[in-house]
Parts: sequence; structure tokens; C-alpha cells
Amino acid sequence: MHTGSCLCGAVRYEVDGDIRNVTHCHCSMCRKAHGSAFGSYGSVRREQFRFLQGEEHLVPYESSEGVRRRFCSACGASLLWLSEHRFPEWVSFALGTLDTPFVPPKQRHIHVASKAEWHEVTDAWPQQPD
Ligand SMILES: [Zn+2]
Ligand SMILES: [Zn+2]
Repeated sequence: MHTGSCLCGAVRYEVDGDIRNVTHCHCSMCRKAHGSAFGSYGSVRREQFRFLQGEEHLVPYESSEGVRRRFCSACGASLLWLSEHRFPEWVSFALGTLDTPFVPPKQRHIHVASKAEWHEVTDAWPQQPD
């Protein structure tokens, strides 16, 4: 069991199950949404993700067709990435919002072809260009 929250603490969630598919996405949308070199996500099945409080503070933003990002309206923290069409059974959450310790067994970088010029990927995890 893991718990997480946004920057201001208004939104809190728990994850009951294995966190899968730990991904660092270097696409320009994730860079902008997170204001950083890349967005880091973990994924769980929808039924394994539960809000503990503050879901009403989340604002949706459709960054591309069928892809909804949800962020906290009070502090702006990016929390969720949801794809209704491609991954309807999964919730991807911003890994940086976890409050409990988590060391993923595997990680990967995606959309590395779009990465910021000022950032170098220096770890040994697999890299996908798109
Ligand atoms: Zn917040
Ligand atoms: Zn991305």
C-alpha cells in the first residue's frame, strides 16, 4: 500500500497494488506539465487507485485527444495522466507525489527523441526514442 499527495496536501490518494510501468517521459507535453526535464509516472489498475481526500480540487486538462491530465487547482501539482482510449483500465500518477518509499525494480525513458537539449540521460535504464 502506497499513499501520495499534491504539493499543498489538499489531494491525497492511496494505491493498493503493485506500481507498474515506471516511466520517465521526455515529450514536450510532459516537460511542460511538470515544468521539468521529464515527467515520471507509475501506473496501477483503476480499481487499485483511490482518493482519500480532495478529489474535488483536481482540474482536468485534455492535453491531446483522449488524454486527460489532472492537477490540483490549489497548488498546481500534476497528479494524474489518463488515456481513455489506449489504457482505459489504468491510472498513471506522477511518481514525485508519492509519500511512501518506493524503489521500482525497473524503469525506462520514453520519447527521448523529444528531450530537452539541456538535459542528458545518464542512468542505465532503457531509452525509447518515441
Ligand atoms: Zn494541492
Ligand atoms: Zn509525455
